[in-house]
Amino acid sequence: MKLICIGRNYTAHIQELANERPEEPVVFIKPDSAILPKDQDFYIPEFSNEIHYEVEVLVKIKKVGKHIDQKFAHTYYDEIGLGIDFTARDLQAKLKEKGLPWEKAKGFDGAAVIGKWLSKDRFEDTNDLNFSLLKNNEVVQKGNTSLMLWKIDELISYVSTYFMLKKGDIIFTGTPSGVGKIVANDYLSGLLEGQEMFSVKIK
Ligand code: ZN
Repeated sequence: MKLICIGRNYTAHIQELANERPEEPVVFIKPDSAILPKDQDFYIPEFSNEIHYEVEVLVKIKKVGKHIDQKFAHTYYDEIGLGIDFTARDLQAKLKEKGLPWEKAKGFDGAAVIGKWLSKDRFEDTNDLNFSLLKNNEVVQKGNTSLMLWKIDELISYVSTYFMLKKGDIIFTGTPSGVGKIVANDYLSGLLEGQEMFSVKIK
């Protein structure tokens, strides 16, 4: 399975920037080896001095599809989750500067936290979900899926143009503002509509 991640899908001032939305979503892939095993601590890798958290709403694909029309996209997922796209920001900055791919900064072991899954039927509208990330019990990131530049169905349609979606693939839908650095002994937890979806200790 693969993790398909969307970059820059929220802007801090979406209302003002609505007309300036980038032409296409930024897409990258993490390998399945990036998934942090359940209930395991996250160890800051030695190649980075600046690991950032990015809390993101997740979508689990339930069947094979390619070139999915936006109006059928909702039939390709039943479950919504929450996770973290850990990013080695210092390494990413270097790679970006040279125009190189981000994989090492985004796809390293443990770089994908995947919390529990909830049926989308529990929610009235998946385009209006509140979520947040707490660091040491203080809110550091807050978002709502209504603020996405590209909504879930648009993302499914867009990415399926390039990558065949398979059962079990997971889409990381992008992070709102407020990303920041972690240090050893931090404790992160994620909430979706008030429900705790994951927690992770940093070592
Ligand atoms: Zn991200």
